[in-house]
Amino acid sequence: MENSEWLQFVSVPSGTATPSPDKPVAVAEPTTVTVPTSQVPTPPISHHNSPTEQSQDSESSTTVSVSTTFFPGANLGSLPPDLIFLSSDAVFFYVHGHQVLGASENGFKSLLPPKSQKGHEELGPMISLSENSTVLNVVLHTIYNMSCTHYSPSVDALIAAVDALHKYGVPVAKYVAPSTPLFQLILAMAPLAPIELYSLAGAYDLYDIAVPISSHLLAFPLPNVTDELAERMRPVYLKKLFFLHLGRVDALKRLLLPPPQPHAPTTTCDFTEQKKLTRAWALASAYLAWDARPDLSTSSIESALGPLRERLGCQLCQSTLKARIEQLVMQWAVVKTTI
Ligand SMILES: [Zn+2]
Repeated sequence: MENSEWLQFVSVPSGTATPSPDKPVAVAEPTTVTVPTSQVPTPPISHHNSPTEQSQDSESSTTVSVSTTFFPGANLGSLPPDLIFLSSDAVFFYVHGHQVLGASENGFKSLLPPKSQKGHEELGPMISLSENSTVLNVVLHTIYNMSCTHYSPSVDALIAAVDALHKYGVPVAKYVAPSTPLFQLILAMAPLAPIELYSLAGAYDLYDIAVPISSHLLAFPLPNVTDELAERMRPVYLKKLFFLHLGRVDALKRLLLPPPQPHAPTTTCDFTEQKKLTRAWALASAYLAWDARPDLSTSSIESALGPLRERLGCQLCQSTLKARIEQLVMQWAVVKTTI
């Protein structure tokens, strides 16, 4: 997604205390900025009236980027914003100190309330943060219990945002609980990066989201769990992942074991004759069990065992085999697919 789709560019006359956007911002020390009320941005209606153009008209102005969700007139609360966050890539987010402080258990990493209250300003003190605007956008949406799905943050941004929430004392378990916007967003991204998101869930003991994410890990080769991933997901979730794989493989082997039930002997097919089917089943199921994978599909089961029917001259043997395969497929389908 292009930044321009979610950022506003506002013309601010040079000479105000606003830092230049191209100046590197890595300072955590709160500073104060005054943005004149006349420069209060409004959400972009269309690109035809892009505020960026305004800045080009004026030689004495600097273009600054403002969040399209957290801007001064955003009506996110009954009161106007009283605090400004500046991301590492120089985007301004206008927020409510009480909302942010209320979500944090460590005073937003002791940055709030701001120590410096230099000067008088209408929009509150400004705090520079080390997170970039994409990550900070997710963090603030989460704190405000709003969905940021429409911004389509990347998996990396989501992970960084959860880490940032933790860093700023926002209880991750509460803000990534089922039915929260961030929970839904992470879950929607799970097929794209299941092991990374599972590790994230493990890192913060988010069992409720780790369970559905784990269903995307049946095809994940366990040898690909790096030291870094293992450390990140922590031992309990590593164990759960291994047991999911081992448990399914064990279950498959157990389910494959019993041969088809013999039918009552007939003139053409007695018990001795039926041993052919038992032997054929043992061979074919051993082949499946040898390469047993936790993500084995039911169609693989059918294609491995189904052809046995063609070799059977007896109709009754054919139907007992068919019934046995159907039973196996059904049993395999109900084996747990999550941790
Ligand atoms: Zn038979």
